[in-house]
Amino acid sequence: MASNSTLASNGPSETTTYKPRYIDIGINLADPIFRGHYHGKPRHPDDLAGVVQRAIDVGCTKLIVTGSSFKSSRDALKIAQEFPHHVYTTAGIHPCSSSIFSTSHHMHHDESGSESETSPAAATAAAPETAADSASTPIPICADPDPDAPQPEDPSLIDHVRTPQLIASLSNLIDSNRSPKGGLIAFGEFGLDYDRLHYCSRTIQLHSFRAQLSLAASLTPQLPLFLHSRAAHRDFVDCLKEAFGPNLERLEKGGVVHSFTGTLEEMQELMDLGLFIGVNGCSFKTEENCAVVKQIRLDRIMLETDGPWCEVRGGHEGWKYLVKYYAREREAKEKAEAEAKAKADEEARKKKVEEEEEAAKALADVSINGNGTELPTEVEAGDGTPDVSGTSTPNPSGQQQPGQKRERRKKQPQTPPQPKKNKNAKKESEVPERFKVVKKEKWEEGAMVKGRNEPCTIERIAIIVADIKGVSVEEVCEAAWKNTVKVFGVEE
Ligand SMILES: [Zn+2]
Repeated sequence: MASNSTLASNGPSETTTYKPRYIDIGINLADPIFRGHYHGKPRHPDDLAGVVQRAIDVGCTKLIVTGSSFKSSRDALKIAQEFPHHVYTTAGIHPCSSSIFSTSHHMHHDESGSESETSPAAATAAAPETAADSASTPIPICADPDPDAPQPEDPSLIDHVRTPQLIASLSNLIDSNRSPKGGLIAFGEFGLDYDRLHYCSRTIQLHSFRAQLSLAASLTPQLPLFLHSRAAHRDFVDCLKEAFGPNLERLEKGGVVHSFTGTLEEMQELMDLGLFIGVNGCSFKTEENCAVVKQIRLDRIMLETDGPWCEVRGGHEGWKYLVKYYAREREAKEKAEAEAKAKADEEARKKKVEEEEEAAKALADVSINGNGTELPTEVEAGDGTPDVSGTSTPNPSGQQQPGQKRERRKKQPQTPPQPKKNKNAKKESEVPERFKVVKKEKWEEGAMVKGRNEPCTIERIAIIVADIKGVSVEEVCEAAWKNTVKVFGVEE
C-alpha cells in the first residue's frame, strides 16, 4: 500500500531496509522538564542526555532547539555546547512571551534581555504549545493567566522605551552566538498566536512580531526564520510582507512556519511565498488537519516533535495511520516468516527424499552384489523415522497409526481459554513503543516519561505523513532532511 519502506528495526531483514534520518526542527529541550523539573519541582534526575541519545538511536541525529524567550534562547545555546554536531538553536521571543514589550508587564528575571539576570531553573521558557493539551504540560511557574481573560487591547501599553533595549539585547545574543561562532542557526521562535490572548494581547503581539521582523531583516547576512502562526494568518502574512516585500523577495534565507494547524488555503499561500511547513503531532488532530497535511508538497515539508508538547495521541486522527502502518508491518513480517518456514520445510522434504533414494539404491547394490539378502526391517515396513517436517510422503502401508488418531481426537474439540482482553494493552500493542515508558513518579534510567514528548518520537510523524500522502517513509524523511539542511544549513 502506501509505504514500501520499513523502519530499520521493525523490518524482517535489517540489512536491506532503509535507515531513516531525521532533523527535529522544533524541540524545546531548554524546558526544565527535560532536567526532571515539573511545574518548578524536581521530580526525577536530569535525563537530558538520555533524551538526546534516544533521538540519535532512532536516526534523529540533529535537533534544532527552540529559543522562545531570552532565558530559553540562552539555555538552548548551553545545550548546543553540551551536544556539538547534534544540537543547534534558534533565538527569539514567542508571541506568548511577548508581554515583555508591554508596560503593564511585571518583568521577571528570566525574561530580561540582560545577560547578567538569570534565574534558577525554575521558570518555564514559554507557554505550552497547546493549552488544550496541558494535562501533563509544563506551565509557567508564575501564575498561569486565565484563558478566558484576554489581555486588554490597549496601544498605550506598548513599552516604547524598553522595546529598543530588548531588540538590542536580542541582536547581541544573535551576533555573538550565530553559527559558526555558536550553535545558533535561525531567528525565532516568533510570530502571532491569537488562540492565547490571555498571555499577551493582539496589540502587543503585533508590536513584538514587527520589531523582531525588522531586526531579522537587518541582519547581515540574514538568518532563516522559525515562525509561529495560530489563528492569525492574515496579520501574520501581512507583517511578513511589510518586512520582506510582497513576495518576501527580501527574505534571503527563507523560513518555516512550524507546528502548522491552519487551513488548506493558508498553507498554500505560505508555500506560494516560498515558506516551509513544519509538521508535528498537533498537525494530525482532526480529519481536516490530515487533509491539509496531504497537500503539503514534499519539497516544502519539515518534521518536528515540539516536545515536550504535541505528541500524537490515541484520540487524534493521526493515530489511526500509525495503527494501520504497524498492522501492515506485522502482516509483512508474519508473511515473510511463513515463507521462510515453507522454504525450509520444502528443503527438508527434498533432502529426506534424496536420503531415502540413496538408502534404497545402496540396498539394491547390496542385493545385486550378493553381499547379503536381509532387508532392514524399517525399510520393509515403510518409513519408520519420525516426520520432522510434517510433509513426508504418506505411510505406504496405508494404515492409520494409533498414536496419530488419539492425538487428533485430543486436539479438535478443545478451545483454548481466551485471555481476558485488556483494552489498554491492546491499544499499546497496536502501536509499539520503541522505548519503555514510565510515569514520572516511577522514573528510571533509559525510559521515556509518559506525557513528556521527546524527539525520538519523530518517526511517528514521518510514518503518519507518509501514509496520509500515500508515499514511502523514506521519501518523506529524505525530503524533510534535504529541505532542513538547505534552509538551516546544518551540516550533513
Ligand atoms: Zn510554536
